[in-house]
Amino acid sequence: KDFRNSVKPNWCPGCGDFSVQAAIQRAVANVGVEPHEFALVSGIGCSGRISGYINSYGIHGIHGRSLPIAQGVKMANKDLTVIAAGGDGDGFAIGMGHTIHAIRRNIDMTYIVMDNHIYGLTKGQTSPRSDFGFKTKSTPKGSIEQSIQAMEMALTAGATFVAQSFSSDLKELTAIIEAGIQHKGFSLINVFSPCVTYNKVNTYDWYKENLKKLSDIEGYDPSNRNMAMQTLMDNHGLVTGIIYQNKEQKSYQELVHGYSETPLVHADLKISEDQFNELVKEFM
Ligand code: SF4
Repeated sequence: KDFRNSVKPNWCPGCGDFSVQAAIQRAVANVGVEPHEFALVSGIGCSGRISGYINSYGIHGIHGRSLPIAQGVKMANKDLTVIAAGGDGDGFAIGMGHTIHAIRRNIDMTYIVMDNHIYGLTKGQTSPRSDFGFKTKSTPKGSIEQSIQAMEMALTAGATFVAQSFSSDLKELTAIIEAGIQHKGFSLINVFSPCVTYNKVNTYDWYKENLKKLSDIEGYDPSNRNMAMQTLMDNHGLVTGIIYQNKEQKSYQELVHGYSETPLVHADLKISEDQFNELVKEFM
């Protein structure tokens, strides 16, 4: 299983996204998926380039729209392992509506957000995850907006799998992506993935000083939603590990009426061209 291709990433040296790429490649290999059984859909931004850097089916979609595409891919071919990936601007600004509804819909797929708290591709403006007071070219006197508390938002929206990790911890990140893929439903994984070029505040060292591993919190129970919410609030969201997982809730595919065991792409639709044309006329 070789998920490498010959395309050389053009991320800046040291960009956190390299580790996300490596972790995805390792995770899909570890769970026994073959390159032809894996689809990676990305949005727009530096992170959006990732779908071109991995040997699999790949779609580099439009800004904030990786999730509608990825959900469509999964519904059409349930045999594919589907991951959508993008930045915090892609997922929590222009794509936020899709993020919330994908969370509550609970289609069996994984969404990885490469969260660098800034817009890198457009050369350094505040993103929805930038902290209050964060100085950028677009906010020279400091951001006057509050940062989106993305993990709390996901819990509130009814997420069945919420996790967070750090680009510098490849072992943990790989394990979390594996767990997300194996989760039966929608898994949201937010990755602190430093932008070394434009974000001089939320650096690797800053995260190393400020992040806390949930595995170090005695008695932490990821099946307890209230505990998950309280722990996030107590730690300003700066935790890594599986924050919450609901293994009981059925996925969208398990609940949708008449969802075929046969992937739709292989289904015999038993419809002639004439019947198809008649159907189309009804919608014209
Ligand atoms: Fe990575 Fe930032 Fe460079 Fe974009 S600008 S590739 S996010 S380091």
